[in-house]
Amino acid sequence: MAPPQQVEDEAFVTLATSDTYALGSLVWGQSLRRVGTTRKLVVMITPGVSHGIRQQLGSVFDLLEVVDVLDSRDTINLGLLERPDLGVTFTKFHVWRLTQFKKCVFMDSDTMVLQNIDELFEREEFSAAPDPGWPDCFNSGVFVLQPSLQTYQNLLAFAMTVGSFDGGDQGLLNLYFKDWAYTDIQKHLPFIYNVVSQAFYSYLPALKQFGANIKVVHFIGPVKPWMHKYNTATGEVIPEPGTGHHGTFLQQWWNIFMELVQPKMDPTYLSGLAGELASLKLDASPQQPMEAVPEHERRERWERGQVDYLGEDSFQKIQERIDSTLQSGPAQAQPKPVDKSKGAVPKASRKHVRK
Ligand code: UDP
Ligand code: MN
Repeated sequence: MAPPQQVEDEAFVTLATSDTYALGSLVWGQSLRRVGTTRKLVVMITPGVSHGIRQQLGSVFDLLEVVDVLDSRDTINLGLLERPDLGVTFTKFHVWRLTQFKKCVFMDSDTMVLQNIDELFEREEFSAAPDPGWPDCFNSGVFVLQPSLQTYQNLLAFAMTVGSFDGGDQGLLNLYFKDWAYTDIQKHLPFIYNVVSQAFYSYLPALKQFGANIKVVHFIGPVKPWMHKYNTATGEVIPEPGTGHHGTFLQQWWNIFMELVQPKMDPTYLSGLAGELASLKLDASPQQPMEAVPEHERRERWERGQVDYLGEDSFQKIQERIDSTLQSGPAQAQPKPVDKSKGAVPKASRKHVRK
């Protein structure tokens, strides 16, 4: 069968302002390649991304677009969110400047694609999925937009005059596209296009029922997949407690990272966490990334109980964790330490978990 036709004027776009977020971008890009996207892959980077990582980004992405950092400088509201780092997320607005494309899907670099999502290009600006924290707001980790210099200017003017109610891009975009909640259901992307971590502990029966449909996982919060520890002896991730990240999805992220990203990283050119991760040496052979299974087959397997990446075991584990959390407080919910653990992340570099 001939490979599907590539589409030149539509793109998936992400953003990285640092080498560590660039690692997320690399895994995200590989996750989209794996599911055979026919659209262009673009990463917007700021001058803070090192030369070493840029070269690697160049081998995965069709276009590296260097942009300036836009900072909300809104320390009061960001303080409310306990995420002073998020001012930088205004930099996302540069995606509206990519006018060589008719339509773009922006995705955070802490997302991972499990099934082909090219159908998102059938949606119009501004389409996004609800945020479970306040479902009349959308989550700005995945959205469909139409590049336009006019919209870009309007967003900047809006940022100066109105601002953001949470200090980040999500609080601004929800004010700017304020009709989203009430006017056009076509602009509500189904939740499966942006399944944020909270869903895993707030509605477990829904996860059991609909988990096979998930197309995009979003590792929200201050602790990102690359900050969890990884056991190089067993090839298993050791989830940090309290992040709400699903162990099976984290493992999937690390499988892609260890197989397709990490072997090409050069420790001589990288510093900080990226340098540390570049130096990881796997004692075990890496776990294979999950093969991309066609949608109908995935559903059939799910219904037969043959669940590959959200298996019965992992449900049991979550359930056990939830039970033990309820019985004895969050401290008890820690996974058992693994003896041969070679954690990649020094304690000092881990951010605190948002309560
Ligand atoms: N981002 C970045 N550098 C930063 C913070 C954020 O490049 O220091 C980009 C990155 O693409 C990230 C997105 O902005 O995925 C949104 O931030 P984040 O995912 O950390 O927010 P959350 O989803 O946790 O609210
Ligand atoms: Mn995110």
